[in-house]
Amino acid sequence: MSATFRRQYFPAATARDWANWQWQLLHAFRTREQLAGVLKLTTDEEAAFTRSDRPFPVSITPHYLSRMRLDDPQDPLRLTMVPRVQEHQVGPGELWDPLGEEPHSPVPRIVHTYPDKVLFLATDFCATYCRYCTRARVVGSGKLTAPNSIWEEALCYIAQHAEIRDVLVTGGDPLTLADARLDWLLARLRAIPHVQILRIGTKLPAVLPQRITPSLVHMLRRHAPLWLSIHFTHPNELSPEVARGCIRLADAGIPMVSQTVLLKGVNDSTAVLKDLFEKLLTLRVTPYYLHQCDPIVGSSHFRTPVATGQQIIRDLHGRTTGFAIPSLMIDAPGGGGKVPVGPNYIAGRDGADLLLKNYADKTYRYHDPV
Ligand code: SF4
Repeated sequence: MSATFRRQYFPAATARDWANWQWQLLHAFRTREQLAGVLKLTTDEEAAFTRSDRPFPVSITPHYLSRMRLDDPQDPLRLTMVPRVQEHQVGPGELWDPLGEEPHSPVPRIVHTYPDKVLFLATDFCATYCRYCTRARVVGSGKLTAPNSIWEEALCYIAQHAEIRDVLVTGGDPLTLADARLDWLLARLRAIPHVQILRIGTKLPAVLPQRITPSLVHMLRRHAPLWLSIHFTHPNELSPEVARGCIRLADAGIPMVSQTVLLKGVNDSTAVLKDLFEKLLTLRVTPYYLHQCDPIVGSSHFRTPVATGQQIIRDLHGRTTGFAIPSLMIDAPGGGGKVPVGPNYIAGRDGADLLLKNYADKTYRYHDPV
């Protein structure tokens, strides 16, 4: 599919160009005109491009665009990447900073919500901009392009807080940084004695798998224990290139988990998510979280009722591999942290017995020792 797309829309590009992550970034589709050369934009999409009241940038790598059905405005990947006019509407409960990250930022680039974990916002740059991004207030804005002094201040904060044992390097997408810069940051974090584990939050393995080069993987494995938390949305993302990238990471011993945002009209069905999670397992990526979409301004067209996610998890339970089933989470607005909101399997109590519902909705008794 990608070769056909390349020949049609980039006739001068070679297969070697296509396989180069920097070529992909350089040729990302960022404007209405560029996208209109490939997709027939709908009235909604056209209208979204002409508005300036939510200046969240657009960027779609050629690889990711080649995974879309170009003539289908309801293509699931397209719905997540091409702006629609609804993103300019402010719905009930929506906020620019729904997770309360700003008030939990003791120094620039650090978000410290939980006692033992911090986020390190390494960059605001992403290869593709998801229209439901929780951090749309800063991502793609140029506000997080950090001079070294800002990173030093953030590193100093972590070094001075011995309770921090887990650092999630995120952004933006940290894998868009050059190998040497990311290596420097990870080495500095690794050198802090109380930091036990490092995590990188990224969507690049899904949208820019060409980034998973042997040299990147070689560098990452030097900073073990380091986990990749990969944002996957839909099984249509799982191209041969994506599979190769994941296999390369897994073969290097880099553990991977996935995070998926539940999105209306995109992946809010048991069949779609079962397919995604089962295929991720074959790539040695463990489905970790299924997130209820955060109430970022302009996201109401993406949000499902919480009951939808609960039903999907209920449908999966007992009908696929246990660790193909992620936890359904809501990130509590205002900085409350993640709250599991999966279905409840305890039907009640009868004396000393708990009444349990199994996957087939049959009731079982379990004597509950007091
Ligand atoms: S990849 Fe992550 S940080 Fe970047 S736009 Fe998507 S959700 Fe936001």
